[in-house]
Amino acid sequence: MKWMLISEARGDAAVGQPCEIRGWIRTRRDSKGGFSFLEVNDGSCFGSLQVVAPGELENYDSEIKKLSAGCSVVVRGTIKPSPAEGQASELHASELRVLGWADPETYPLQKKRHSFEKLREWAHLRPRTNTFGAIARVRDQVCASIHDFFREESFRYVQTPIITASDCEGAGEMFRVTTLDLDRLAGSGGPVRYELDFFDRPAYLTVSGQLEAETYATAIGRVYTFGPTFRAENSNTSRHLAEFWMVEPEAAFFDLHDNMQLAERFLKRIFDDCLKTSAEDMEFFDQRIEKGKIEQLRGVIDKPFVHMTYSEAVEVLTGSGETFEFPVAWGSDLQAEHERFLTEQHVGGPVILTDYPSSIKPFYMRLSDDERTVAAMDVLVPGVGEIIGGSQREERLEVLQKRMAAQNLSEENYWWYVDLRRFGTVPHAGFGLGLERIIQYITGMTNIRDVIPFPRTPGSAEF
Ligand code: ATP
Ligand code: MN
Repeated sequence: MKWMLISEARGDAAVGQPCEIRGWIRTRRDSKGGFSFLEVNDGSCFGSLQVVAPGELENYDSEIKKLSAGCSVVVRGTIKPSPAEGQASELHASELRVLGWADPETYPLQKKRHSFEKLREWAHLRPRTNTFGAIARVRDQVCASIHDFFREESFRYVQTPIITASDCEGAGEMFRVTTLDLDRLAGSGGPVRYELDFFDRPAYLTVSGQLEAETYATAIGRVYTFGPTFRAENSNTSRHLAEFWMVEPEAAFFDLHDNMQLAERFLKRIFDDCLKTSAEDMEFFDQRIEKGKIEQLRGVIDKPFVHMTYSEAVEVLTGSGETFEFPVAWGSDLQAEHERFLTEQHVGGPVILTDYPSSIKPFYMRLSDDERTVAAMDVLVPGVGEIIGGSQREERLEVLQKRMAAQNLSEENYWWYVDLRRFGTVPHAGFGLGLERIIQYITGMTNIRDVIPFPRTPGSAEF
């Protein structure tokens, strides 16, 4: 008998077919007529399949009537059109085998509703809930879209290192990587002898693959890296993780304009794929997590992104009459509250901010002719704020050296990066998209800890 995933078994084509399904019980309801309804879910799609288990089954009294949420089962039978509303078909069981019991007294998901905070304590079980199953499938879809999009745009996937000796851009506090015995070190009282450490120097977990991606962009043209990224910033916010995933395209011969166009096509493609291929999951987010999400994404896909310079944004913010916790003045970094005001109140959709003051951006961003700003671009979206940060890179050797000196970075540590400007330098540009931030935006989930399977945040790494 054919084993069907529930995504297939629920389809019209399955009606009339004999089949076997394998999954977990969501609910059991016994009918007065001496049979039971079981909702079985296998995670292949959002919906469950209703199984009708007749009282004649030989284990009906001994097992079926004891089934509860979380039990795993294999059911054989025939798919029939369903008389019940809201479902096209149901499985009439001719045989049901229990693989694993889940004691209703102790199974945490026995009760239907738990807060997202509570579910974080059960990171091993939360994917079995509607919300976390849907997030997992959408996240998978977004990853597939990322690879599809870049391949179609002739970008090559390169793998940049996770362990690095360069503090890229000082993008945030870094995690140390060491094999030194910290306990002995603590007792020794002396200075750390890095020559005895594994890499013969201080090493860290990467905060960005950009610098390494640039070496491949200036060789094979268009590349992207996509992998885990680490920041030890002690910020307990709803949009920061200590370990997150970042997609970083980098393209030779791209300027800031090309870069912005690429980012816009990229985001729209991801949204469009989600609406088309994750329709059932998106329907759930639209109904239960953020009303109107589907309409909102459709609107974003249909309209060109609004562009604004940092200077214009500062004017909008200072003239808004709004009181912000952090005051705004030209030259200060925009805070989340400012970003959200711009995208939520002022624009009412995504906005690309460009031309930030050089003083608040890293050394590698290209200095503009005004010598006060750099060719930077951030993409902001409602509800989340910044999801993309990028720039055209500084390709002129002397300018780069000056900016490194101004930021107290030793050229020695970045000799290979500087070399790219010494030998056949070209204009190039790229950006970084935080995977979890875009999943937050797509699903409407307000806390970033709920859109990554195993969140790492200050003081928390249980699983
Ligand atoms: P923010 O100002 O929001 O802290 P950032 O400017 O430090 O972000 P970038 O260095 O520009 O971030 O990184 C590129 C992208 O990576 C960001 O636009 C964001 O989508 C994502 N990102 C950055 N830091 C984090 C983090 N701690 N957790 C999750 N995503 C992050
Ligand atoms: Mn940024």
